[in-house]
Amino acid sequence: MEHTSFLTQIIPPARMVRLLLGEGRDSGAPLVWSSFLLRQPTEEGLLLYNTLTLELLHLPAALVPELETLTGEADGRVPSLQAGPAASTGAEGGAPSPRRELREQLRKKWFLVPADLDQHKTALELRKTLQDMEPPAGYLKKYTVFTTTACNARCFYCYEKDWTPRSMGPETADRLAEYMLSHSGGHRFQIDWFGGEPLVNLGVIDRICARLRGAGADYRSHMVSNGYLFDPALIARAAELWRLEQVQITLDGVGETYERIKNYKTGGEGAFRRVTENIAALAAAGIRVHVRMNFDLHNLAQIEELADWLVARFGGTPGVAAYPVPLFEDPEDPAAWHSDEERDRLCAAELDMRARMEAGGLRRSLPLPREPDLRMCMADSGCMITVLPDGKIGLCQNYDRSGFIGSIDGPEPDEAGLCSGRALREEIPACADCPIYPGCIRLKLCPTQICYPQRRRVREEVKKRSMLMEWKRHQKQD
Ligand code: SF4
Ligand code: SF4
Repeated sequence: MEHTSFLTQIIPPARMVRLLLGEGRDSGAPLVWSSFLLRQPTEEGLLLYNTLTLELLHLPAALVPELETLTGEADGRVPSLQAGPAASTGAEGGAPSPRRELREQLRKKWFLVPADLDQHKTALELRKTLQDMEPPAGYLKKYTVFTTTACNARCFYCYEKDWTPRSMGPETADRLAEYMLSHSGGHRFQIDWFGGEPLVNLGVIDRICARLRGAGADYRSHMVSNGYLFDPALIARAAELWRLEQVQITLDGVGETYERIKNYKTGGEGAFRRVTENIAALAAAGIRVHVRMNFDLHNLAQIEELADWLVARFGGTPGVAAYPVPLFEDPEDPAAWHSDEERDRLCAAELDMRARMEAGGLRRSLPLPREPDLRMCMADSGCMITVLPDGKIGLCQNYDRSGFIGSIDGPEPDEAGLCSGRALREEIPACADCPIYPGCIRLKLCPTQICYPQRRRVREEVKKRSMLMEWKRHQKQD
């Protein structure tokens, strides 16, 4: 790590980015701040994060006011610093002044850039180059398996509710297991059990896993479930045979509110107690549980109640995490979008709940990435597929949007098919100077990626919390 009298480097720039970009250039044009900069005050000064290079720096408080004087002139004719450990040691035009040195460092690190640089194009070209350099995986790393499109619940907001329920049969399960074995190349791969409710048809999970285990395959699995159908014996089998590492369970409220929204076909009385007991049992068996708190205007009050309940019941429990997720607005249906005022309320609620989950021991900020994210999700990975109950292969778990690229019974998806989810949604005017542009990938086929100022604010705030977390970690190490 570099450490100068001005700047503390908390995270170095990503290696390949540094190699490709080199040092920030001096074109002779006046310097301006990079568009890809996030600033976050700390008690000791200011964090500066460059979303293009992924470098995180900290500047001591005494020098923060000086930052605003660093832009403008091209040749470094800026006055000496007034205070702090970096006070000037030489006359302007003679020995390099600390202020000039700070400015030089920030320029070389791409925090200050020449005004004539097309930053947007630079970011786009960098990502394209890095993507082109990515070696193909050569095997399938993840399968999202729809064991069934049937469900034991009837959430009113479910995007699958108009689908005809179909379940995978034992013969398809057997062929899928063989398909996995012949496409893993001996590598570890992941299975995400999905539905409908995957446990409605758990026989195929047993069947596939038994075959894979018998063949010595290196598989692990995750699941998206409502959690209702688990019981102690099934949890033990899930840990052992399914090698289940993580379950995502959605809760939309506490007690009867939850039961009303889920509207279980079996009546559902006591369903909240049953599901939350299953969460505790799964975590005790070493299976991580991610509680997804779906919310929208209809259940804002209830979701706040749920947040308090979760903190009281599961706060600090190893293996249990919780996070709020606003129901998505369909990019293809602008008439149904929320108003600005509604989005403000939802955005404030999301940020507030995130903070409460963190304070309550149910969530931690993610570390900042050390390498750029070159892909958005399974749909553009080129090495992950979804498999429907009839064996059809797609790219996105919202399969009605992605179309199909083949079947486990043939035709075999080719590379063009596997990569066909990479088409990008058109940029919007706000992308031109968006600070998170370098890491933002919006896929054409994704129904969850509508962008508006409040969503950007959430994304920026989430990054800033990660910046603070990295700074605290750095302080502890120091
Ligand atoms: S889509 Fe939105 S978040 Fe992404 S770069 Fe554009 S403005 Fe920023
Ligand atoms: S819904 Fe969007 S994020 Fe999810 S898999 Fe599909 S494309 Fe990816």
